[in-house]
Amino acid sequence: MVDLKEELKLLREPILETLTEVIDSGQYILGGKGEKLERLVAQYTGAAYGIGVANGTDALQLSLQALNIGTGDEVITTPFTFFATGEAIAQVGAKPVFVDIEEETYNIDPSKIVDAITKNTKAILVVHLYGQVAKMKEIMKIAKTYNLSVVEDACQAIGTEYDGKRVGAIGDIGCFSFFPSKNLGAFGDAGFVVTNQKTLYEKVNRLRNHGSDEKYHHLFIGSNSRLDELQAAILLVKLKYLDTFLEKRRIIAKKYTESFNPFLKTPPIIENRKHTFHQYCVELDNRDDLALELTKSGIGSAVYYPIPLHLQKAFQYLQYKNGDFPVAEKTAKRILALPMFPMLTVQKQDYVISTVKKFLENKG
Ligand SMILES: *Cc1c(COP(=O)(O)O)cnc(C)c1O
Repeated sequence: MVDLKEELKLLREPILETLTEVIDSGQYILGGKGEKLERLVAQYTGAAYGIGVANGTDALQLSLQALNIGTGDEVITTPFTFFATGEAIAQVGAKPVFVDIEEETYNIDPSKIVDAITKNTKAILVVHLYGQVAKMKEIMKIAKTYNLSVVEDACQAIGTEYDGKRVGAIGDIGCFSFFPSKNLGAFGDAGFVVTNQKTLYEKVNRLRNHGSDEKYHHLFIGSNSRLDELQAAILLVKLKYLDTFLEKRRIIAKKYTESFNPFLKTPPIIENRKHTFHQYCVELDNRDDLALELTKSGIGSAVYYPIPLHLQKAFQYLQYKNGDFPVAEKTAKRILALPMFPMLTVQKQDYVISTVKKFLENKG
């Protein structure tokens, strides 16, 4: 699925150099590298403020907490996402309320949001799945009408654009994950929050550090969720390559799409949006057969995600049932992610394409 060896050839020297610098500095938590990363990633997304945190899940949790969302509150989100999206809502004591996705983007369907709003609804937690942006214009309009906050789970979507704006900085607060396999990945866990609102910035900044901004003075209950200097240093090196790598992903995606259309459902390229292809997913009836065929041919593939959140055991207490979100359920049975990483060679991609095509000719 992903091969990081080629990337490492490029990155090993500059990363070893910067790690040595950090080690010699003796400053390992909340230092110069982290501050620089906060400045540069905020700048990259177009947000006024950036805060490094321990991981993407914490980014979501701290953002919800900064918005004062907790017990008795409801947060609307998609059932078709990584578990952490719903988990963060439950962790702050709020109730996740799921709304089905669109067939086109695999993201929350704005036309179904209003029906899910109650007097307890506080926010919409939007996910930009696989690097494809959700319908932000419609979502922001609903949020404004009903006075809801918008949190962006942009964990898979750093650099994704919508009408020339980068995700994360479109809603009230945006969350990123720098988990190693994400489009901008550390060598361990790391996450990030961006916002244009000073009060939210100050709140998250303290929440991640025991509710404190002055040593041993604690304003409220927070947690320990800081991004360490070694990870920040690695991310600063990798940030320089981000746009080049995202462009490579788009080139690989374009070739897949040209090769598979119209035989497979491929990710749509939508006007005024820039997809960053964290995953390149196709959709087909006999998904499991294709996955098996790829495995036999030595090609990786994966299903993101086989069980929608409303059918997860952990969310049984919400009392959803099979059939509640038909688009998410259907997609979970049909979706398949193909090999996608910046250093995927033309030769290897051609082998993936010819293997898929052979399968389609025989069994499609
Ligand atoms: C990766 C991911 C997260 C969680 O990020 P971690 O850094 O692993 O905690 C949350 N939401 C989505 C959509 C993700 O892909």
